Amino acid sequence: SLPLTGKVALVTGGSRGIGAAIALRLATDGADVALTYASSAEPANTVVKQITALGRRGLALSADAADPTQIDAAVAHTVTTLGRLDIVVNNAGHLPTATGLCDIDRTIAINVRAPLLTALAASPHLGHGGRIITIGSCLTGRVPAPGLTLYAMSKSAAHGLTRGLARDLGPRGITVNEILPGPIDTDMNPADGPTADTQRALTTLGAFGRPTDIAATVAFLASPEAGFLTGATIAVDGGTNV
Ligand code: NDP
Repeated sequence: SLPLTGKVALVTGGSRGIGAAIALRLATDGADVALTYASSAEPANTVVKQITALGRRGLALSADAADPTQIDAAVAHTVTTLGRLDIVVNNAGHLPTATGLCDIDRTIAINVRAPLLTALAASPHLGHGGRIITIGSCLTGRVPAPGLTLYAMSKSAAHGLTRGLARDLGPRGITVNEILPGPIDTDMNPADGPTADTQRALTTLGAFGRPTDIAATVAFLASPEAGFLTGATIAVDGGTNV
């Protein structure tokens, strides 16, 4: 059988980019997968169709990570519909383009508050072997360009969240880890965008990564083999911060 047979995963922001790749990879490894999105149902439904084609159950949930009520509802809906919850991936993220008070509040709501609220709502449902995985950013290790302060600040919260939750949930056999992606080719950060060549030059590999590169690491952390790996921060950044 597959490593995640019988497991249920919830991936926030799973309709496009890194989150969609994570949702598909977890389904490929045997899990039934619920995924959330904020604005556009169509790509979410496409991912669900792909999950179904793999022979797994998929569930698309409209749930804005900025809204605590919608987060709670998404977790509850996942458990009600798919029957249990084993793997939580905090992937939904916001890249702000300005630093007005509204931008600051929205960025903190999505990048700081939502991963905590999702973990708090999910943790009562997680059993021994449960997994919480948060997608941070390599920009929290080093900020190589101006204009990224709010994003870097907000993404840094994942460090404390990961370590705190690892302590809180370790006694129940639940592991909690963080992945720091480098430049990954998505709508948020296209490999042909205006700063793409600069980002490429910062890596040791001279290349952008693909969403599947992050999904592969999530799959390992979610697998039974990674049961002794907790409280860790794993950079998947092409060597950006070496
Ligand atoms: P994309 O913008 O390509 O995809 C974002 C996904 O999240 C979409 O499915 C989107 O759905 C959903 N989403 C956006 N806002 C919300 C919200 N408020 N509530 C729920 N879902 C939401 O982003 P990436 O795939 O590039 O990024 C995924 C994560 O990886 C983010 O946390 C990002 O910060 C992080 N990251 C990305 C890097 C990169 O180079 N790409 C580098 C380092 C970190 P919808 O269609 O509804 O908007």
